[in-house]
Amino acid sequence: MILRCSACARVAADGTLLCAACGDLLAFELDTAAFDPARVRALLAQRRVSNDHRDRSGVWRFRELLPPVPEAAIVTLREGDLPLYAARTGAAYAGVDRLSYLHQGMNPTASFKDCGMTVAVSNAHARGARVAVCASTGNTSASMAAYAARAGMHAVVLVPATGISESKVAQTLDYGATVLAIDGDFDAALAAVRTLDPTRVAVVNSINPYRIEGQKTAAFVLLEARDWRVPDWIVLPGGNLGNTSALGKGFREALALGLIDRLPRLAVVQAAGAAPFARAFASGRELEPVVAKTTATAIKIGAPASWKKALHEVRVSNGTALAVDDDAIADARAVIGRDGIGCEPASAASLAGLRVLAASGAIPRDADVVAVLTGHVLKDPQYVAQYHASGAARANPIVRVRDDAELMARIDAFVDSPVPAGR
Ligand SMILES: [Zn+2]
Repeated sequence: MILRCSACARVAADGTLLCAACGDLLAFELDTAAFDPARVRALLAQRRVSNDHRDRSGVWRFRELLPPVPEAAIVTLREGDLPLYAARTGAAYAGVDRLSYLHQGMNPTASFKDCGMTVAVSNAHARGARVAVCASTGNTSASMAAYAARAGMHAVVLVPATGISESKVAQTLDYGATVLAIDGDFDAALAAVRTLDPTRVAVVNSINPYRIEGQKTAAFVLLEARDWRVPDWIVLPGGNLGNTSALGKGFREALALGLIDRLPRLAVVQAAGAAPFARAFASGRELEPVVAKTTATAIKIGAPASWKKALHEVRVSNGTALAVDDDAIADARAVIGRDGIGCEPASAASLAGLRVLAASGAIPRDADVVAVLTGHVLKDPQYVAQYHASGAARANPIVRVRDDAELMARIDAFVDSPVPAGR
């Protein structure tokens, strides 16, 4: 695979982070002509019943499509084999007939970051890196801490001192990482990390092209689970936009490999208080950074690093970008929970956005839609508890009972009432 600048196309040295000529992000280029689609499908089907630790990973099962790394250096926690759930309540809520959730929160550290992290950390490990560093709103730090611990590397994370989920920090500490809390937001933390020398420490934010390679496998996993039938639309949350870049790249490679015959359209949904990408998409102008403000902390990013790559993916897929407010995200999040699934707030931007696109007719009712959920419901339990105590429309507050008679009466009342529809 060749590593190239995503802006000026110059070839870059392996292990570098940014283009030496123009400073933009790098991307790996896969030689898709080297593969026969029938053989790829057969090999993948065979690997699904294999006990090889690489085949049990929904990332390393696709290893020929990733930058090569020695087998002994691979650090895996069996990430990436993500479930695709039918979303009955969510479909009715959004106003579409066919909706499923690709739940990336069902990864080992409970967010989509693991798919990219296994590749970034394995490659850093192969090069002999001793220290892994990242800036994070919480999920990246937890993921990096876990993989660095497995690899035997120091892990140092930079997080904003306020406004990120306590449970993500707790998770990161538990995996043994050193947490440096700074007096700025995520964008300030990432700016600091970008100045580090990548030959001294492994910077594993999504500006790292290996991260994107790992994350692109979610597109393959999704298509494989659907027997290579292409959805009409993929709706996903947009924060730093590495996931949009990665999924778009995965779908383009699947098309170039002959595994599918068209691209799904990508719809990127941002929180209204952190929507520079949606604004840039609408105006057709350069992205203008903002000071991000949203309770969906995982997408609270004002200067998304991967915006140019993501814009390319949205455009080639004939997709779109939009913003939804925090109340719409909170409401949609509660709906996702009612399907017995659940997710963290940022993930629900996808369902909230789909509802807007279906109402306007931009996504027709009979479209085949996949909404991407990026993090597990337990990533932000404080948010969930506050929501259910809040009196919001879909809140499900704790019921306090006074005595045994009331307890029995409440249970009895359910016995004769109709049960929820179920899936
Ligand atoms: Zn360049």
